[in-house]
Amino acid sequence: MELLWMEPVMKQMIWGGNRLRTEFGYEIPGENTGECWAISAHPAGDCKVRIRNNREQEGFTELVYLLSELWRDRRELFGGMEGEVFPLLTKIIDAAEDLSIQVHPDNEYAKKHENGALGKTECWYILDCDPGTTIVIGHHARTREELRELVEAGRFSELIREIPVHPGDFFQINPGCVHAIKGGTLLLETQQSSDITYRLYDYGRLQDGKPRELHLEKSMDVITCPAENLLDEEETVQAEEKRRHIRYQAENGSFVEHLTVCPYFTVERIGVKGKLSLEEIREAGSVRFDIFSVIAGEGSLGGIALKKGDHFIVPYGCGEEAFLGEMELIHATP
Ligand code: ZN
Repeated sequence: MELLWMEPVMKQMIWGGNRLRTEFGYEIPGENTGECWAISAHPAGDCKVRIRNNREQEGFTELVYLLSELWRDRRELFGGMEGEVFPLLTKIIDAAEDLSIQVHPDNEYAKKHENGALGKTECWYILDCDPGTTIVIGHHARTREELRELVEAGRFSELIREIPVHPGDFFQINPGCVHAIKGGTLLLETQQSSDITYRLYDYGRLQDGKPRELHLEKSMDVITCPAENLLDEEETVQAEEKRRHIRYQAENGSFVEHLTVCPYFTVERIGVKGKLSLEEIREAGSVRFDIFSVIAGEGSLGGIALKKGDHFIVPYGCGEEAFLGEMELIHATP
C-alpha cells in the first residue's frame, strides 16, 4: 500500500486570513493566506509528493517528485489516464474578505484565448462560514444587452444573485457562471487544473496601492446569459437535495454521499464510522485513481495515520485497504 502524499502550496491573497493555520495547522506565509493548493500539478503551484507507505522498516521515501513529474513519468500510478496535464486541482480557500465577482471560461474558450490552458469548472463544499454569510452564484440579467448595461453602469448589486450559505452546503460552478465567495467562508474546492479567472468587479479594492486588473470583455464573452440557474432560494435547496444523495450506507453508519458528477470530476463526501473499505467507496470498474482530503476527525488507511488537513492520492491498483477511525473526507475522481 503506497499513498501519494501531498505537501500543500500556500498562497497569500488580499482577501485571505489565517484559518489555514488555526483550523488545519498548516504553516502559512502570512496572516492573509487565502488558498491552500492541496493537490495540484499546476505550474503556479506544483505539489511536492512523498510516496508514503506502511512498511515501517523502510521508512518514508523522501521528497523527490513534483506531482507534474509523476504525471509525466509514472502514468501507471494514474491508471494510464490520457492527457497532457494532471486534470484536477483541490484547494482549501479561507476567505476572510470577499473574493472578486468573477467568471471562468470553458475549455474551448481558454484553449483559443489563453494559450491552450484548460477551462475551469469548479465546485465548493462549505467547510465553515459565519452566520449570515452569503455567496454570489448567477445573475439576473435576461439578455446580453441588459448584462452589459448593468456591468458598465457598475450596478452590481442589481446584477448578481446572492444566496445564504451554511456549513455543509455544496455548489457546482460551471464555466460562464458569475460567482464570488464572500468573507467569512472556509471551503474545499475541487476544480479543473486551471488558474484562469476573469474579474468582473473587485469592489474598488487596492493591492499594493493599485486596483487589481479587471477583464470585462473576456467576462462578457463567457458569461452564460440568461444564467443557467435562476431558481429562487427554496428551489435551489430542493434542486440541491435532489442532486445530493447517500449512494452507499454501511451497517456501522459509514456512508458515501454523492455530491456532483460532471464531465471533469465526480465528488463525494465520505463518513468513516469505525471502518469503510476502498472497495465500498469505489463504484466497480470506474476508478483510475482516487483523491482524498480529510476534512474532520482522524484515523488511518492501510496502517497509514491520517488526520484533518491531510491530502493524498490512492494510486491505481490499490484496493484492498480500509479506512479506520472516525473521519470525514472529500473524495474526488477524474
Ligand atoms: Zn472561481
